[in-house]
Amino acid sequence: MAFILPELSFATGALEPYIDEQTVLIHHGKHHKGYVDNVNKLVEGTEFQNASLEEIIKKAEGGLFNNSAQVWNHTFYWQSLTPKSAGKPSGELLKAIEHSFGSFENFKEEFSKKAVSTFGSGWAWLIKGQDGKLEIMSTSNADTPIRRGKLPLLTCDVWEHAYYLKYQNRRAEYVSAWWNIVDWDAVATRLK
Ligand code: MN
Repeated sequence: MAFILPELSFATGALEPYIDEQTVLIHHGKHHKGYVDNVNKLVEGTEFQNASLEEIIKKAEGGLFNNSAQVWNHTFYWQSLTPKSAGKPSGELLKAIEHSFGSFENFKEEFSKKAVSTFGSGWAWLIKGQDGKLEIMSTSNADTPIRRGKLPLLTCDVWEHAYYLKYQNRRAEYVSAWWNIVDWDAVATRLK
């Protein structure tokens, strides 16, 4: 069974003005699709031929790991975004964030700092640790919390392809805009 590129749950221009349509078209239709195509090619004839994406990510190395992790990370990224963002978390999620970071504002600041300071290509994550506390982490290139058995709640893609067409080198502006389209309902569901 070949892996397929998941469709977006919103129109490609729906994240404007925070993420422009051209970026979404290329990011999803070329980059994300490219990773899917690569996994389908690389998995052929290996022990992972019938494995789930998660199994591949946990055990594979090299190109197969990189491409499968990027498929997962991107699917998760798109599923973390919505043009109808509530703007901020509420309920149990808000409580958990306040418990772990003091306040939502403080969380936002720490997460943004982690995203902006990630060196080179990578991802910023909100994850739930084994002790139930929420943590912020940064991963390089394709690396993903899934590989380490952590539960991801939210991610921001800080590869240049995620923002360069609109923001060029101004990653901080992209991260600042990105907060406006976070799907807090999706994040809350993952926490449950
Ligand atoms: Mn990307």
